[in-house]
Amino acid sequence: MTTTSTPESSSAADAKVDFVDVLIVGAGLSGIGAAHHLQSKLPGKSYAILESRGAIGGTWDLFRYPGIRSDSDMYTLGYNFRPWTGDKSIADGASIREYIADTAKDGGIDEHIRFHHRVVSAEWSTATSHWTVVAVRSDTGESVVVHASFLMCCSGYYDYAKGFTPEFEGVEDYRGTVVHPQLWPSDLDYTGKKIVVIGSGATAITLAPTLARDAAHVTLLQRSPSYIMSLPSKDPIALALRKYLPSKVAYGVTRIKNAVTAIGLYVLCQRYPTFMRKQIRKLQEGWLPEGYDLDTHFTPKYDPWDQRLCLVPDNDLFRSIRKNEVELVTDHIDRFTAEGIALTSGGHLDADIIVTATGLNLVAFGNVEMTVDGRSVDLTETMAYKGMMLTDVPNFAFVVGYTNASWTLKADLVCDYVCRLLEHMDSGGYREVRLDRDPSVGEEPFLDFAAGYVLRAVDSFPKQGSKAPWRLRMNYFRDLPALRFGKLVDDNMSFR
Ligand SMILES: Cc1cc2nc3c(=O)[nH]c(=O)nc-3n(C[C@H](O)[C@H](O)[C@H](O)COP(=O)(O)OP(=O)(O)OC[C@H]3O[C@@H](n4cnc5c(N)ncnc54)[C@H](O)[C@@H]3O)c2cc1C
Repeated sequence: MTTTSTPESSSAADAKVDFVDVLIVGAGLSGIGAAHHLQSKLPGKSYAILESRGAIGGTWDLFRYPGIRSDSDMYTLGYNFRPWTGDKSIADGASIREYIADTAKDGGIDEHIRFHHRVVSAEWSTATSHWTVVAVRSDTGESVVVHASFLMCCSGYYDYAKGFTPEFEGVEDYRGTVVHPQLWPSDLDYTGKKIVVIGSGATAITLAPTLARDAAHVTLLQRSPSYIMSLPSKDPIALALRKYLPSKVAYGVTRIKNAVTAIGLYVLCQRYPTFMRKQIRKLQEGWLPEGYDLDTHFTPKYDPWDQRLCLVPDNDLFRSIRKNEVELVTDHIDRFTAEGIALTSGGHLDADIIVTATGLNLVAFGNVEMTVDGRSVDLTETMAYKGMMLTDVPNFAFVVGYTNASWTLKADLVCDYVCRLLEHMDSGGYREVRLDRDPSVGEEPFLDFAAGYVLRAVDSFPKQGSKAPWRLRMNYFRDLPALRFGKLVDDNMSFR
């Protein structure tokens, strides 16, 4: 880590103290991207990354369940500065992890990472214009203090310790193995086993066809259906462009093409839900066996993109259903039994293994306890500005990507904006930037998304505003001009 100076001693006794211009929390896709933007645009700035785990990659290192892959294309999930060169556009977890780790290695970013440092608190002092950040080392238990002028939270959006599992009655009676995909045991042998996967989201539909290759039988048990579409895992246009154009140009063109496609699809779904419902159904009819009960298993109660639309590569889920390797059951769980799951309809699913692909527990900003001048920050009283900064929390930015397109499209924009902001502060001699709440702006939930994992936690998140720039615009093509090229400073910001 680059250490530029050592300010006054910290309150945490015995702690190692140092100072950086920018402190990044998290060494996942966002944290490594943030470091790259920072060191390439503002090479004079010192920075460090505190990462609570022992590895780079975040999500793409943590999740190890069979078949783990992206469900958005890598030309938009990849960084804008580093072409994705893999063959597949829907890539497996290991390739994404490698892409992030290679980015860190090539840029020397890995030398700035402190692993096993879980950030627990961050205290802003207006008097000294810096953050005092305390991390606890998971390997030694020691407390470490780092001072920073600017804090960037790239901690993702969910609890790393544990995924979400609803309370199932009778679970203690079950004699088989229960597994949550977030903590998949590497030695779990499922060959020849009967497996029930509970869930209807991206993880469940990834797992089912993958497990079906070796299992005796896989049942995908969903309470209610989701919208599921298929994409070719290889993008023929991207591969052709790569042959004839320089790598960076081909990547840039494919990135725009795919962003337009993803956001175009989202906008169409929001504007013409009935039409899009019909189109999705028509495609699914072609992928599924004749006479398949689409009404029960593939027709959600909500409109397309009111919740995340799931993608499968090369029809894999639909092909497994056709081959009878995966059976889709839409029903409710009454209770677990010794042999499996009793359904409220009266049926029973026998299972040697039950996979609870029932979701994540959302947490805001890595559960870091923030204080400003001795006053604890109540996140629910703050409002997000441009989906990346908070009212009353000076010199702070966070990365939360899009829910309707690839995460990194937004992450790159945020990082770019933060670099411009830091440059502006340097040139004006400012040590603090603060956002003041605009009383004319109404409050709305931070994520306007009806998924269960969002609804369970959104009350503990900051608010978003009813209009720009306080509104989180889930649209890359509206954010791009505003964040990358638009006016940096407005009346909501004050500099000191
Ligand atoms: C199974 C799965 C599949 C997904 N697929 C896609 C997809 O296809 N497309 C898409 O756009 N998005 C997808 N997402 C969302 C995904 O999380 C993002 O794509 C992206 O990986 C987020 O990167 P991140 O660095 O912001 O967060 P993360 O990957 O969550 O990394 C955050 C890092 O911060 C660290 N951290 C957290 N709190 C602290 C703390 N207090 N102190 C220190 N370190 C901390 C964590 O250990 C972690 O390493 C998926 C998510 C999951 C769970």
